[in-house]
Amino acid sequence: MNQMSAIQLWQAALGELELSISKANFTTWFKNTFVSSFENGRVVISVPNAFTKLYIEKRYHSVIQKSLQNALNAPVREILYSVDSRLPAPEPPPTRESLAPVQAAPNWKAAAVAESGTLSGTNEFGLRQSYTFENFIVGKGSELAHAAALAVTEHPGVKYNPFFIHGGVGLGKTHLLQAVGNRLLERNPELKALCVTCEQFTNDFISALRSGHTKEFRDRYRSVDLLLVDDIQFITGKEGTQEEFFHTFNALYQAGKQVVITSDRPPKSIGTLEERLRSRFEMGLIADISAPDLETRIAILTSKCQEHGWSMLSRDVLAMIADTVQTNVRELEGALNKIIAHHEFYNLQPTVESVREVLATFSQNQAKKSITPKQLIHTVAGYFDLNIDDLLGKSREKKLAFPRQITMYLMRTELKSSFPTIGDELGGRDHTTAIHACEKISKVLENDERLRLDMEAIKERLYTGI
Ligand code: ADP
Ligand code: MG
Repeated sequence: MNQMSAIQLWQAALGELELSISKANFTTWFKNTFVSSFENGRVVISVPNAFTKLYIEKRYHSVIQKSLQNALNAPVREILYSVDSRLPAPEPPPTRESLAPVQAAPNWKAAAVAESGTLSGTNEFGLRQSYTFENFIVGKGSELAHAAALAVTEHPGVKYNPFFIHGGVGLGKTHLLQAVGNRLLERNPELKALCVTCEQFTNDFISALRSGHTKEFRDRYRSVDLLLVDDIQFITGKEGTQEEFFHTFNALYQAGKQVVITSDRPPKSIGTLEERLRSRFEMGLIADISAPDLETRIAILTSKCQEHGWSMLSRDVLAMIADTVQTNVRELEGALNKIIAHHEFYNLQPTVESVREVLATFSQNQAKKSITPKQLIHTVAGYFDLNIDDLLGKSREKKLAFPRQITMYLMRTELKSSFPTIGDELGGRDHTTAIHACEKISKVLENDERLRLDMEAIKERLYTGI
């Protein structure tokens, strides 16, 4: 078995796992785990200690199995968890206390790395070194954004400030954002760069407020030469964070420091964004990335194969993959990894036919399936990390009542269930409760971008069956 493919396999499985459990649990339990071998339908996962082994085995075995099977596109008969004491132990699981104010001044750098998850392999600046200009394949859809990003690296803080990149998921926004950071650091290792997701910025800000460390927070964010903020659309609806970001931005801008921002939509389409922040975003350079065309998709696949030393895929096979997977680059990479893993697992030489077979199940998984109310309930419960009895139970606690209403809403919109059926399925409630829930959620959705994104994520999980 080839070492690379074990890593690829686990990365692919982790990618799915990450979507199906809460972020805190994911980081806690899957940090420092890896696949140490896989053959003949048997996968060995190395974990750092016996406690993690016990916990993962008990709680996550079936999701792990599902994710591995999906990644391999083959049945996994047996999963063994083996303790590898050379691995660093994970932090304790998140508890209520961990939400309490921190006592000492937080270690920002460490926090940034931990937040983004060590699995993504980011360095102290929050950058992943593999995202470079060198391995970014330029195509029609990304030409402009790529050229603009390069221009930013030529004259940081001068010409294009802020630089705002927007585009759909998996099209290379994060890659370009990080490439700017990596290039500038390469030129000047003394540069103070910081790359965070909007979520990290928000969390840092909130914990600074709670712990009374706002000065440290400001010192940290306002003293950098380069601030890279990923997925800024998540700032919607968070007034305090918007205000703080506005001041952070102004401080950096006035000091001639470069700011680069990504978003899944242009500034004008980010709902509930303060006008003054929107106009800041619009005063620099805005570039969008759109989906790559066929030729670019082939070039991307070729480049990824070279990167990994996969020489077994012929040009015809690559062209077929590129032709089949048209959505985005992330999916394209996912399909490629799956094909490689599948063929290595069975020790097969990939042919157009065998790859087509793997791709057929890949697109089947992506196609909409008919969903049952039970599956929907299960998915929502999993998404919010709730237990099904609680979700269907009587408690009106917000952390249960809101997901319950979301379930009812999705049952109406996705499954087209009648209100009485919805009431029945949701623990025998009256149909008026279902009507009220659906009305409420559609109302909230009008202004709450975050909920909209949650809905998308739940639906994605629902239809991909992860
Ligand atoms: P986004 O942030 O837009 O959702 P990412 O930057 O995370 O997308 O890209 C998804 C994956 O696809 C990453 O692994 C990235 O390296 C790869 N990728 C995206 N665009 C390109 C490209 N033009 N050339 C090479 N790899 C790309
Ligand atoms: Mg991204």
